[in-house]
Amino acid sequence: MYDCIIIGGGISGVSSLNQLKRNNCNVLLLESRPFLGGRVRSYIDSISNDEIDNGQHILMNCYENFLSLLSEINSINLVNAQKRMKVCFVSKTQNSLQPFKKHLLEQKYLPNNIGILIGLLHFSAFTLSEKIQLCWFMLGLKIFKPFDNETVFEYLQRRNINQKLIIWLFEPITLATINTSIQKASAKLLVTVLEKALLGGGTKSAFVLPTKGLSHFFSHAELLEENAKTSCTVKSIHKNGKTFEILDSLGTIYYTSSIVFATPLSTTKSLLSDLEINLPKFDEHSPITSIYLWFDEEVLTEIEDSFFGMIGTITQWVFNKYKIENRTSNFAKSLLSIVISASDKIVSLSKDEITTMIYTELSEVFPSIKSSNVKHSVVIKEKKATFLSTPSFELERLRTSTSKEGIVIAGDWTNTGLPATMEGAALSGVTASREVLKFLQKL
Ligand SMILES: Cc1cc2nc3c(=O)[nH]c(=O)nc-3n(C[C@H](O)[C@H](O)[C@H](O)COP(=O)(O)OP(=O)(O)OC[C@H]3O[C@@H](n4cnc5c(N)ncnc54)[C@H](O)[C@@H]3O)c2cc1C
Repeated sequence: MYDCIIIGGGISGVSSLNQLKRNNCNVLLLESRPFLGGRVRSYIDSISNDEIDNGQHILMNCYENFLSLLSEINSINLVNAQKRMKVCFVSKTQNSLQPFKKHLLEQKYLPNNIGILIGLLHFSAFTLSEKIQLCWFMLGLKIFKPFDNETVFEYLQRRNINQKLIIWLFEPITLATINTSIQKASAKLLVTVLEKALLGGGTKSAFVLPTKGLSHFFSHAELLEENAKTSCTVKSIHKNGKTFEILDSLGTIYYTSSIVFATPLSTTKSLLSDLEINLPKFDEHSPITSIYLWFDEEVLTEIEDSFFGMIGTITQWVFNKYKIENRTSNFAKSLLSIVISASDKIVSLSKDEITTMIYTELSEVFPSIKSSNVKHSVVIKEKKATFLSTPSFELERLRTSTSKEGIVIAGDWTNTGLPATMEGAALSGVTASREVLKFLQKL
């Protein structure tokens, strides 16, 4: 008989397991796939032999719960944090001699919010009046709060933010962190992101990049292995007195006093259908499309940054993988990973069409790319990357505790106050484990 069984081995489940183990609970995690990590995973591409992710993941220094999880499972050495926030944006020009312009946004001089404001004032894409408008917007975040039903676009209009600031700053931030278009995303979530990530104090806004395939995060987790069973799909749950009986697909029954459901909403709904717990109705997802391009020559030597944002293009972010991972390969000289969030407009195109479209776009902005050949390409469409984070989604999200004693829910879709991110998932796992501990103390 276990104190707690966690169903689902994504970040929320692993985070919950880590906390419960540290509190000496007799706990077991059941995961249907043969590996831990859920939506955070990597695999070996058979043609290049390179390990690639299901989609580039990026973290920030403000990801306190996720970064401490990485420390506690001995995987913190698999990420590399910037000293201070520094991000380069590239835009296309009409000048064939200089086809792109670079603009650097960085925390300047001081490792605090003043450093961020100075950085915004130095951002060369904006005019003086836009910079003043932006500083006024930032300073007014606490006073002019978004309404519950307001989208990002509506809120920015109410705050008199002009189109250029939207295109250069608010749209990229919303897409990258909320994976929902500004016309649909919850304004409350954007303000949380701005307060925690951009104005979180210290160097919280610095970016943190994985330096190895994402699955390595969990392959170091010896701490967790003895308490986790993979390739184990939970089929049904029954309550017998105070004990829950969990049946897996192989017919094994597990007995436990409490359960953390760290599964996607649809699975949680079907597993909980006999236990009369009302779960949210939202069911709209938002896709993320990733394109990997291998080149036979080193490309983008004109950009020293290992990743950068692109403005006014379908491509949103470009990651120079060998540079980030500080390695070379026998197969190719460069590997670019291109990320398009909230990619509804392109996700139905064929993989060839997407590759051609992105290659054409990149070679217009960086003509030097044409002097090298694309040796290989991979397109990964994660159609259900995250929930569509609309204002009504925000209102429906549930807290981790439920009306039924001993049943707790976790996952990036629960009400963490954060967007559906690794940090949101890790936080939900921490909160869920606190609920379990409270319940176990009462037994
Ligand atoms: C392409 C892509 C890019 C992303 N980029 C970023 C980024 O840059 N930054 C960021 O912070 N976040 C990013 N995210 C979001 C982040 O990956 C997720 O928010 C997070 O991983 C969700 O973790 P979770 O534990 O809530 O859910 P999941 O990872 O979905 O975990 C649920 C687990 O439950 C298991 N399961 C389901 N049914 C059963 C069953 N019946 N029995 C047992 N187990 C079951 C599943 O196999 C799965 O492992 C990205 C996501 C994608 C897809």
